[in-house]
Amino acid sequence: MAEEDFLQNPHETGSGAIFLVVAAGRGARAGAGGPKQYRALNGRQVLTRTLEALLAAAPQARARVVIHADDLALYEAAVAPLAGDLQAKIDPSAFGGATRQDSVRLGLEAIAAAGAPDGTLVLIHDAARPFVGPGLIARALEAAREKGAAIPGTPVTDTIKQVAGDSRIVATPERATLRAVQTPQAFRLGLILAAHRAVREDGCRELTDDAAVAEWAGHCVFVFPGDSDNIKLTTTEDFLRAEAKLPDELHVVLPDIRTGQGFDVHAFGDGGHVWLGGVKVPHDRGLVGHSDADVLLHAITDAVLGAIAEGDIGAHFPPGDPQWRGAPSEVFLRHAVQLVGAKGGRVAHIDATLICERPKVGPHRDAIRENIASIMALPLDRVAVKATTSERLGFTGRQEGIAALATATVRLP
Ligand code: MG
Repeated sequence: MAEEDFLQNPHETGSGAIFLVVAAGRGARAGAGGPKQYRALNGRQVLTRTLEALLAAAPQARARVVIHADDLALYEAAVAPLAGDLQAKIDPSAFGGATRQDSVRLGLEAIAAAGAPDGTLVLIHDAARPFVGPGLIARALEAAREKGAAIPGTPVTDTIKQVAGDSRIVATPERATLRAVQTPQAFRLGLILAAHRAVREDGCRELTDDAAVAEWAGHCVFVFPGDSDNIKLTTTEDFLRAEAKLPDELHVVLPDIRTGQGFDVHAFGDGGHVWLGGVKVPHDRGLVGHSDADVLLHAITDAVLGAIAEGDIGAHFPPGDPQWRGAPSEVFLRHAVQLVGAKGGRVAHIDATLICERPKVGPHRDAIRENIASIMALPLDRVAVKATTSERLGFTGRQEGIAALATATVRLP
């Protein structure tokens, strides 16, 4: 490939840039489910996310992925969902070696063999870091252009001890001088490829990262500010935490939108409070019911069940069953939310209306919304509670009871 072809926008960047994404590992620590870089995060493969993040952040750059020879089909499945203009920036994959160090070297050799000049900036990135952001990539490009070899690092908050083989502490490094390092590690191609070749010729020693390879070869490597969001997905717990960071993606991964409605009424009886949305609201009367008679939670529960066509609250919790006598109604709602989760779905939004003359709902509205949001694990802005009177008409107007209406929006895969 001619140099002019390789440099996408030489005047914009000063030199061409390529992401070398290392995806050849087996990822045993993330448990069952295959190599972690190909596992789904909210329905999308980690490698798909990583490539999209990198290429979107640096439109002038290209990418090449180092994969395990057994993973060709997985790799193709990871690239397929990317937009056509992004796929066009991905060069053919390279097969990795026995160690990460071998895999990086083989990837660098493939980049050089394709005609990239020595001055090309290479950003070597872990496939299992999908949260890499544009700010970090801009810093990496700038640092590599200025220094030739630079890596991202974040301050260390724990005190670090150096220990001997018998666990005896031999040193306590000054914490202010320590950095926890990440990827992308950024280099000029000629520098890092020569360093990897030299390490290999010296006897294939295993170094921790690409910075260590450059250091071993005698280069100064600089640290630029990393990003605490740029986590590496290693364990199953990492995947769960990562999914919790992506609540706004539901439209991508859960496209099947369902709506359910619920309606409930409870009559006033003796008592000094009513339960509304799991909140105890003082009143000169109570509501009569087999459970705690929380008319609002019952309507919401029926709306959620309706959205997944799973019957109604009475079918799941028969009114005659003594175990539900006086039960807190959040038990019913939690069950309905779990049924949605068992289908791979999520509740996206709740809108509910209470109809009564008294008690006044307004002073309790925010507490009720917060409690419902907590029960359903929803952000507060996805729970609406409204109240109205019926203008003294009908049974609610005569203050014989409270009625509640609810609409649930549910998203399914
Ligand atoms: Mg009821």
